[in-house]
Amino acid sequence: MKAGYYKERAWIEVNLAHLEHNVRQLQKIMPESCELMAVVKTDAYGHGAVLIAKHLNRIGVHAFAVATIDEGIQLRKAGIHGMILILGYTGPERIRDIKNNRLTQTVVDYKHAIELSVRRVRIRVHLKIDTGMHRLGIPFDSIRDVQSVIQMKYLNVTGIYSHLSCADSEDTDDIAFTRLQIVRFQNLIDTLNDNGIQLPKLHLQSSYGLLNYPDLKYDYVRCGIALYGVLSSASDKPKVSPDLRPVLSVKARVTHLQNVNRGEAIGYGRTFICERDSIIATVSIGYGDGLPRNMYPASAGIMINEKIAPLAGRISMDQLMVDVTDIKSVKEGNIVTVINDQNSCVLSVQQLAESSGTITNELLCRLGCRIKH
Ligand SMILES: *Cc1c(COP(=O)(O)O)cnc(C)c1O
Repeated sequence: MKAGYYKERAWIEVNLAHLEHNVRQLQKIMPESCELMAVVKTDAYGHGAVLIAKHLNRIGVHAFAVATIDEGIQLRKAGIHGMILILGYTGPERIRDIKNNRLTQTVVDYKHAIELSVRRVRIRVHLKIDTGMHRLGIPFDSIRDVQSVIQMKYLNVTGIYSHLSCADSEDTDDIAFTRLQIVRFQNLIDTLNDNGIQLPKLHLQSSYGLLNYPDLKYDYVRCGIALYGVLSSASDKPKVSPDLRPVLSVKARVTHLQNVNRGEAIGYGRTFICERDSIIATVSIGYGDGLPRNMYPASAGIMINEKIAPLAGRISMDQLMVDVTDIKSVKEGNIVTVINDQNSCVLSVQQLAESSGTITNELLCRLGCRIKH
């Protein structure tokens, strides 16, 4: 099933069948007692958070993670049910919004816990533990701080979690470091348990944590990028490689066709010179829509009528040009595929991220800015 609207200029299509397929693939790898927490921050990596979360609710996913409180509120207003965990810091002045929207807030350090607690509004929180990434969290060896937060009257600690900083790596030192993070986390949990504390839900892995360390048995896996059917980098070789299928594709239109004489230049900087009399198509999408300006290797392009049309010159902010001399039936108004939902294709998110020197995570989340689904 494809959902796609706003077809005037450029748009995102979301393949919900692929989304469901990915959920089942990931659930198959996870230990039985473990639940999928769908990471839908940054508008579900550009796919549209409400659209994605609604479908996930329908197919039985009831745990979500967002980066900010406003992302969480957006989901609640849209009727999403289940747990919604805010991964980032939220200031205590918004504690009523946390409570009223039944959101679960991450406690990012001890000071944050105090700040929230003195407001005397009872909210659900997950405690973040810093096991070595040094981004957020109470240090793994500050056991007294952890226990003291668990005992705070107004904080209902329903989870404890940490984050792995190099779970994607195949490098020996990185694997050793990941194992150290796992041991630090588990030791803390064991100590809490020994001290008679009833353990809340525990979670440690994101997509690569699952794919490279599938044997860990915690209560949730926080899956982002794998849920959307792609690896961060095409060259990654995780320990388990489920059959993931990209959820997103991007379409636009041919808005102008012209014959251009041999020797003429196309676009900014006159970087593309026609080596023959050519037919050039102008397409209504550009870097202002989230495409990296350096996205295409010179040999690649976009798909029109099942054929690849090579890019002609630089991508502009709102438009790009392609050479369609060899694609006969092109007409103004034709729909073109800029990114497609097949990992094996030159137009895949993985290929395009690689050729523009970034990871799919970044490429995807930039796409949601102007074009809609
Ligand atoms: C973004 C994020 C995730 C999801 O990561 P993926 O690699 O996309 O699966 C999980 N946990 C935390 C804390 C995050 O910030």
